[in-house]
Amino acid sequence: MQIIQPHYHGIARTAQDYERMAMSGVVAVAEPAFWAGFDRKYPETFIDYFHQISDFEPTRAAEYGIRHFCWVAVNPKEAENTELSREVLKEMPQFFEKPTVLGIGEIGLHKSTPNECEIFAEHVQLALDHDQLILIHTPHLEDKVTGTKRILEILRDFPVDPDRVWIDHAEEHTIKMIQDEGYWTGFTLYPITKCSPKRACDMVEIYGHERLLINSSADWGPSDPFTLQECVVEYRRRGNSLQQAIEVFYNNPVRFLAQNPKFDIPLVRVEEIHEDSASPV
Ligand SMILES: [Zn+2]
Repeated sequence: MQIIQPHYHGIARTAQDYERMAMSGVVAVAEPAFWAGFDRKYPETFIDYFHQISDFEPTRAAEYGIRHFCWVAVNPKEAENTELSREVLKEMPQFFEKPTVLGIGEIGLHKSTPNECEIFAEHVQLALDHDQLILIHTPHLEDKVTGTKRILEILRDFPVDPDRVWIDHAEEHTIKMIQDEGYWTGFTLYPITKCSPKRACDMVEIYGHERLLINSSADWGPSDPFTLQECVVEYRRRGNSLQQAIEVFYNNPVRFLAQNPKFDIPLVRVEEIHEDSASPV
């Protein structure tokens, strides 16, 4: 079946990952700007990075027939440096003109410091000024609940349309507070810690699949892009139809991302799918 991987850090992955993803049905990925593993010192380093993900990375993905889109932002860890962040923010609007840039992300919080909160708010304002979609990273592990609550508080100060905001890395203890305010919710699957494919399927069963985006961890740390396919198999194993799987793993990413018309991939119409498919994926 065809799959969209809505959160993928391609620059940290190999060409073989693109090839194997193409062989397992992935037709499009979207790459948020993220932390490089070290704190960058110069605004120009971010600008070069934005060029890499908006100009070069689409050509790598295209080798395997995969469409590549991206987001630009200063990630929450480096947002602690407010002076540097503001220099980068000034340069970001030029990237909104590029044909594969979908919006501002991933912004958010890491340790929820005052500096991080200020830069997060400035990103949100920039997104509103330029009518951009927003992708938000919530902190991991013990910082998750506090950080998610703080993010929701800050968003309440802005006239954002919740339908244009995706709050990612949700888990059992944060999904409800995100859904209650009408935002899109994301689950990120990891091979070792954090959310597993089985836990993600449990959450879909409890909370439904509306305004839900599932992605697999795919970065330079312990991660595995193919946990997404594992999740598709687990979802189908539980008796969900191919049509339902397409809604979660293909049509939902289209519904959210195509709010930016540059993401011109159409919904898959369920009546065209043969339910007697022998393979679950
Ligand atoms: Zn990420």
